[in-house]
Amino acid sequence: MAILKILTEEDPTLRKKSRTVDAITPRIQILLDDMIATMRRAGGVGLAAPQVGVLRRVVVVETEPGEVIELINPVIVEKSGSQTGQEGCLSLPGRWGLCTRPDTVTVEATNRRGERFRGTGYDRTARCFCHEIDHLDGILSPDVADRMLTREEVLAMMEEDDD
Ligand code: ZN
Repeated sequence: MAILKILTEEDPTLRKKSRTVDAITPRIQILLDDMIATMRRAGGVGLAAPQVGVLRRVVVVETEPGEVIELINPVIVEKSGSQTGQEGCLSLPGRWGLCTRPDTVTVEATNRRGERFRGTGYDRTARCFCHEIDHLDGILSPDVADRMLTREEVLAMMEEDDD
């Protein structure tokens, strides 16, 4: 498995719309493996293919520690509720948005065996589904954030995490 380079905000690739995956080729399976390795190495809980420079509709989300869901051609089919919270992005190091998202999100997607399935995420996973699927359409969290956190707020949040 390879660790891929994660593009950051200024890279125009992040603003492009990703294309549908037509067939689950070995290349897509390798991409999934590399994306999972890259996400874990970077300490993230989600990663979308355009973040590693591949404009394909592929997303990985760590729903629980050690538990990763792979989403190929994902679409949100149901959402409900609302949550407002801090949202970071591996492509925006050090920047955090305060984003309002649904708190329950059901996605329909294809898995690496080419089967269509549905999965429902709550709380952080619901947020993550929305965030990563946004990436496939060139949308970054500052676009949808109620506001971005100030430097002082980010530092205070990091200190809390250290406790
Ligand atoms: Zn992101």
